[in-house]
Amino acid sequence: MEVRIATSRGFCFGVEDAVEIAEDAVRTHGAGNVIALGPVIHNPQVVAKLEREGLNQTGVLDAIEPGKSVLIRSHGVRPETYDQARGRGLNIIDATCVLVKRAQEAVQSLHEEGYHVVMIGDPNHPEVKGVIGYAPQVTVIDEGSDLEASLPYRERLGLVAQTTHSTEHVAQMIAKILLRPYKEVKIINTLCLEVTRRQESALALCDEVDVMFVLGGLKSANTREMVKLCQEKGRQTYHLETWDQFKPEMISGRRVAGVTAGASTPEWVISDFVEKLRSL
Ligand code: SF4
Repeated sequence: MEVRIATSRGFCFGVEDAVEIAEDAVRTHGAGNVIALGPVIHNPQVVAKLEREGLNQTGVLDAIEPGKSVLIRSHGVRPETYDQARGRGLNIIDATCVLVKRAQEAVQSLHEEGYHVVMIGDPNHPEVKGVIGYAPQVTVIDEGSDLEASLPYRERLGLVAQTTHSTEHVAQMIAKILLRPYKEVKIINTLCLEVTRRQESALALCDEVDVMFVLGGLKSANTREMVKLCQEKGRQTYHLETWDQFKPEMISGRRVAGVTAGASTPEWVISDFVEKLRSL
């Protein structure tokens, strides 16, 4: 099978940093002494590797013993989580991605400037749950939101978006908001360029292949977004975590396959998949 690989794919710098910070922390403080507040990234293979190295990723703040280290994952947390961790006498190791931190600061500054803050994002995603903690009241709107019902009328609106959303989706949501009679709307672009590059690269590859494989955690927001974009482009697209989920019928009658991967997918998963697909 002919296999083409997206030029921009896999681990972004934020995920790379988070994994490195987690591994360093376990080396420094010892296996079992570093507890992350949930999986460090949304990739089960990397999460399992970190577990084997001695990182506990099932942390609940109130249950961590004083003196141990708490690892804040790349998605970040609400500001009060830092206070609670300090209050419990925990050593804080912060692996929040710098771009998520930028979104947190954007929410805080918009609120301080007197805007009603609106975040375009998935209300159940950990990044969004953390970011909205940086202002007392933030309205979260997602794809299915009825803007009429969910967006309060305020004269001054301040907009940010979940870092991993596509530019296209955010632009559509902003266009809908601008149809309403706000006196002032300030937008801070919090989208992640790493994600945008991977999306553009995947869409370009769709034009060259008969079938697309997007590799990444089933819970990974940026991987799911990429799958959606490729499907909207009309290309048959499969979202798989590893080669184990591949089925021969997925390439039946196809000549050229495209492979890309979300920002939390390690290169070893991609190269293993490509090698096996090429051998068919
Ligand atoms: S996808 Fe972007 S925002 Fe998310 S961790 Fe990677 S660099 Fe940071």
